Amino acid sequence: MKIAIGADHGGFELKARLMASFKGCEDKGCFDPEACDYPDYADDVALAVAKGDADFGVLVCRTGIGMSMAANRFHNVRAALCHTVKEAETARRHNGANILCIGADTTDEKTACDMLSTFLATSVDETPRHVIRRAKIERAKRLSDFSLLAREDPEVWAAIKSQVVQEDTEINLIASENTSSRAVRLAAGSVLMNKYAEGYPGKRWYSGCLPVDAAEELARQRACALFGAEHANVQPHCGSAANMAVYLATIKPGDTILSLSLDQGGHLSHGSPVNFSGKLYNIVPYTVDRTTERLDYDALEKQALEVKPKILLSGASAYPRTIDFKRIREICDKAGCIMMVDMAHIAGLVAGGAHESPVPYADFVTSTTHKTLRGPRGGLVLCKAQYAKALDAAVFPGMQGGPLENIIAAKAVCFREWMQPEMKAYAAQVVKNCQAMCKAVQDRGFRIVSGGTDNHLFLVDVKAKGMTGKDAAAALDAAGIVVNKNTIPYDTESPFKTSGIRVGTASITTRGMKEQEAATIGGWIADILSDITNTALQQKIKAEAAKLVAGFPVP
Ligand SMILES: *Cc1c(COP(=O)(O)O)cnc(C)c1O
Repeated sequence: MKIAIGADHGGFELKARLMASFKGCEDKGCFDPEACDYPDYADDVALAVAKGDADFGVLVCRTGIGMSMAANRFHNVRAALCHTVKEAETARRHNGANILCIGADTTDEKTACDMLSTFLATSVDETPRHVIRRAKIERAKRLSDFSLLAREDPEVWAAIKSQVVQEDTEINLIASENTSSRAVRLAAGSVLMNKYAEGYPGKRWYSGCLPVDAAEELARQRACALFGAEHANVQPHCGSAANMAVYLATIKPGDTILSLSLDQGGHLSHGSPVNFSGKLYNIVPYTVDRTTERLDYDALEKQALEVKPKILLSGASAYPRTIDFKRIREICDKAGCIMMVDMAHIAGLVAGGAHESPVPYADFVTSTTHKTLRGPRGGLVLCKAQYAKALDAAVFPGMQGGPLENIIAAKAVCFREWMQPEMKAYAAQVVKNCQAMCKAVQDRGFRIVSGGTDNHLFLVDVKAKGMTGKDAAAALDAAGIVVNKNTIPYDTESPFKTSGIRVGTASITTRGMKEQEAATIGGWIADILSDITNTALQQKIKAEAAKLVAGFPVP
């Protein structure tokens, strides 16, 4: 057991006595009784506890008050000022305190020793009501990150606050969303946004780029290492921009792109007539098989040989099955076209080994960084070394000016997170949760597009039960379950109404939910969709849902 202990001059002597009585103390100062500033020592002890370098902290000043105030500014730190053994025990058991603050002028040596031994020996109570209350303390801290903004701009703060509350209380099943880490959000909100950095690391148009060069180089190297890519461009502002960069780097206006039809799971930037891609290029759509609702690779090969596209684009926004990238490589080789994969939706599954990687096969792989990949809102392109120069020139100066270096730093943080061993389990859990939820809905008689799911999302055919996707999504929303309406293959409804809903599990898995919770939520979805006019049921499930999510705090 490691105890980080610190004191100012007022607590110097009591600290020495405590250190003599307790093994495992790491002295963070002060080291002599000269007058000094208590926050300096509170910071060191709190940081050691926040980082996990110490299991417990002890802080002593004359009253313990200043020390507790300073230490409680830190994430994951709960510092308790105690005067009795009973307080030390309760602070630990109920409040999960991990730092004991003691007033040297208000507490004698024996009481201090007794409090500390009780504090160290008491375990934290994990019954749900205490877990939920402690989670609410952390929520308050997430809001207090913005306490300055609350003063400067109360209107914008109110919008942010309502998002915080919404994330805490709703079940987010939007397949294209996730819940980023605090580390990612800190980098995204950092001073790196102050820098203009047109160009690339080491070759910028502005002076003073050393700090952003360091951040962007980390992002590029980590992206290559994480995905095993030969080259990475981390500058695209979003996924659509990443796709635009590849088109610009490789083909001319009027050239042919063979891509999955938008209403069958493709993306706007894959050639929708209302998007630049559909306006500039000759788009030929491919479709899924009418009965299996899966890609038919033989049909795709036949079509590719007929159409002779410059680019065969795979990847989707609403395809619940694995994609066979090896087979697509064969098709591209036969048709003599560029293999481009947009892995925006599945990038996290690829990073975590829960979906085969397209990187070894494809000439270009584009992605967003904010979906299953759980990073900041942004884009990414990976490519073979032979295309590196053309790609970089397409992004800058081809289509963007200064890159968002703060977002690029957040991408670097995200890529590093994925190199931690626990992320493999996360990716696998996203899929397990999706299958458990999908099965719970399917078992209640709902038709699932393609009969199930291999990834982080599934599509429910709600038209088969006589409602539109729009009405189904609205009913679920009223119960605090957030999904989106979505077209399904060969949909006969308009894209505004649709015949389906799309359900994804990346976000709930980030919050720590497992198959059991996923199945419970699946049951609620089936309950609500069995009678979308039953508002009393929606209210009842909304209350139950809020109770469930309270046990799974947002990072
Ligand atoms: C989400 C998505 C994108 C890009 O989205 P942006 O909103 O532009 O970041 C691109 N391709 C696919 C397949 C997507 O699902």
